[in-house]
Amino acid sequence: MGQRHGDPRDAEVSATGLVALVCCDLGAIVRGRSVPASELGERLADGVSWVPANHALTPLGPVADPNPFGSTGDLRLLPDPATRVSVGGDDIVPALEFLLCDIVETDGLAWECCPRTFLRDALAELEAELDVRVMASFEQEFQLMREAPAALPFSLEAQRRAEPFATDVMRALEQAGAEPERFFPEYAPHQFEVPVEVAEGIAGADRCVVVREVVREIARREGMRASFAPLLDPEQAGNGVHIHLNLIDAAGASMLYEAGRPGALSEFGERFAAGILEHARALSALTAPSPVSALRLRPHSWSAGAMCLGQRNRESLLRIPPLVSIDGGDPAGQLHLEYRGADGAANPYIALAAIVRAGLDGVRSEMPAPPILEHDPSQLDAADAERYGVGALPASLEEALQAFAEDEVVRGWMGPLLYDAYVSVKRAELAAAANLDAGELCRRYAAIY
Ligand code: GLU
Ligand code: MG
Repeated sequence: MGQRHGDPRDAEVSATGLVALVCCDLGAIVRGRSVPASELGERLADGVSWVPANHALTPLGPVADPNPFGSTGDLRLLPDPATRVSVGGDDIVPALEFLLCDIVETDGLAWECCPRTFLRDALAELEAELDVRVMASFEQEFQLMREAPAALPFSLEAQRRAEPFATDVMRALEQAGAEPERFFPEYAPHQFEVPVEVAEGIAGADRCVVVREVVREIARREGMRASFAPLLDPEQAGNGVHIHLNLIDAAGASMLYEAGRPGALSEFGERFAAGILEHARALSALTAPSPVSALRLRPHSWSAGAMCLGQRNRESLLRIPPLVSIDGGDPAGQLHLEYRGADGAANPYIALAAIVRAGLDGVRSEMPAPPILEHDPSQLDAADAERYGVGALPASLEEALQAFAEDEVVRGWMGPLLYDAYVSVKRAELAAAANLDAGELCRRYAAIY
């Protein structure tokens, strides 16, 4: 372990330090430019320069070739002041300071490929049409890449061996305003999870980016690397990103809960869930979008082995988590849907927007309620699988891109330029992955995410 750093709460954020103005790109890599803190006031007004082709950079390094942008055009990264993150540094490492940005044209109008705008538009459509708002929390797993033998899953030993990193992460996330709830060891070697409080709309997806970057920062400071890659080892469990979402009406009341119905899910909730399942194969091109992602989603890895709605069922793509009634817990405040099919290679704005739009399609089309499956979907015979609507997720990114291309509803959510750019990046990744076996693929992506 590297040199021990001070408590980040004690350190002052330097007025002369650097502040990064960043965006999360199509491959979920956070990129941008830093400015001196003293200049931030001006840059909040006009941003910093950016280039369209940056949005065709692949997570592997090179720019996708071909891509729809070429060498022309100019953009701005325009910071959203509400997203400012400051995690104090010390005398060794300067503070981590960044703001998340919209990507805009040089006149300030939204750029058609900006992921935050893509989510903003989806949320605005949901609100305009149904007067419904989204509360979201991204539950993310990651692994510390350490040589030392791992302690047992979920053990106190694993928790204690993760100190002081664990406590430092919680403090740093609090300082960053990400409202961490817990830190705990997970099943795979050196795997941990840090759930955070739900936040409304874009702030929920912003928080997903903040958690990834703050966890990586604290690991770096302590001489380690934290990887959010979907799968580090083909023989082990992967790192999931489970997107928890609730839908609330204008008064803040749950649109999903209704006592006495199956799963306590309202008719609105059933239709919303049905829309997500209807488009699930195409959605996975946006939520599990790397060449390793499908390997994590195989059955019996407690990720999302099948496309169905389940309750207390960790093999289902969409789950209704349990309602806790101890101590008079309020079920209406707890009930939500958990989409288990996302991972750290997904851009959280695009993933959440796609889930919301799929749900909205289910509500608009009054799709029939998906049955709630209580058992392992892989145990069903063909007739029951049909009855429960259980289908298989795409077995590869290639299949997911095919499903995306064929699902005109999902494809139509993106303008042609964004669609082309997205598919160019993903095709470039597939080409680079073509000759790698599962182990090599995992190693390559572990080094990126
Ligand atoms: N590691 C599992 C996944 O890849 C999730 C396990 C759990 O938290 O239920 O999604
Ligand atoms: Mg977990």
